[in-house]
Amino acid sequence: MNRFACDCGSPVYFENDFCINCRSALGYDPIRADMVTLADWGDGRYQDLLGNTFRYCANGVEHAVCNWLRPADSLSQFCQACQFNRTIPDQSRTENQERWLVLERAKKRLFYTLAQLNLPLLNGWADPQRGLLLDFIEDARSSDEYPETFVSTGYLGGIITVNALEADTVARVTAQDELGESYRTVLGHLRHESGHYYWSLLNPSPSLLAEFRLLFGDERADYRAALDAHYKAGSPKHWKDRFISAYASSHPSEDWAECWGHYLHIYDALDTAWAHQLLGRQPETMSMTERLRAWSKISLMLNELNRSVGRGDAYPFVINEFVAEKLEFIDLAIDRLRTLH
Ligand SMILES: [Zn+2]
Ligand SMILES: [Zn+2]
Ligand SMILES: [Zn+2]
Repeated sequence: MNRFACDCGSPVYFENDFCINCRSALGYDPIRADMVTLADWGDGRYQDLLGNTFRYCANGVEHAVCNWLRPADSLSQFCQACQFNRTIPDQSRTENQERWLVLERAKKRLFYTLAQLNLPLLNGWADPQRGLLLDFIEDARSSDEYPETFVSTGYLGGIITVNALEADTVARVTAQDELGESYRTVLGHLRHESGHYYWSLLNPSPSLLAEFRLLFGDERADYRAALDAHYKAGSPKHWKDRFISAYASSHPSEDWAECWGHYLHIYDALDTAWAHQLLGRQPETMSMTERLRAWSKISLMLNELNRSVGRGDAYPFVINEFVAEKLEFIDLAIDRLRTLH
């Protein structure tokens, strides 16, 4: 993530909608991938220093969950990112307002990195065949209105589904313990699920598919049976020798999605390190091998910084040679996906 500043010079976060120094309105312009300082022109319109006019996304105006801008004359009332929403949690329940905000923020970070990587990204309203949509859904665990329903976070046929409870800190920590997934975050989920989506777009050539199966295994293996076995019998004892996480060992498709998620984590974190002058080069200009070398230093620093302030490791993962090869493969796959624009 880049560093952003208000026109007054004060640093601002990606999530800010006003400057705490000069009180100017701020918003994120996805077209320029930059935070914009805004002057109020009335009637919901705002202008930047260059004379561009914007409006805030309707989800920002009505629900305060979005700080993205849209061109003042755009046809949709939603920003680029909110146009991917299909279902949002029931906003008449107060706890859902905070959950939705958490989900939106994670989604924006995911979309930021996908745009940085120049990956194709179209919403499913504009492109029903190949586009992506998101459902943030409740079930019996969070609302009496959905008795006997159980919605799990996942991906199917162009739809990423996230159980709204994932955005609830208490519920997520409980699930972390139950499933042995100490690194469960909303952003981590979204990045993982986006991996399934991009796999569906990839349409690999026979040689690429052969290489995939060599590294990850045969993705045609019975998915239901593999997942049932994973949750019943647990992961193989020595999963750390070959996989990035225990869950990755459950099925080749999950291994791909886990590695994809980590690829995005690493890319974004290196980009942030570069923006803050902790890294000499932008990750975009580096080979995957160079990125992984840089990441072993930066992630160590990240963990030490976290320990310095009494927190656990931010990145408690080991990238062994097998995982490194899988990440190299994902780098190749991303090159191929870029040609699909
Ligand atoms: Zn300012
Ligand atoms: Zn929006
Ligand atoms: Zn998955």
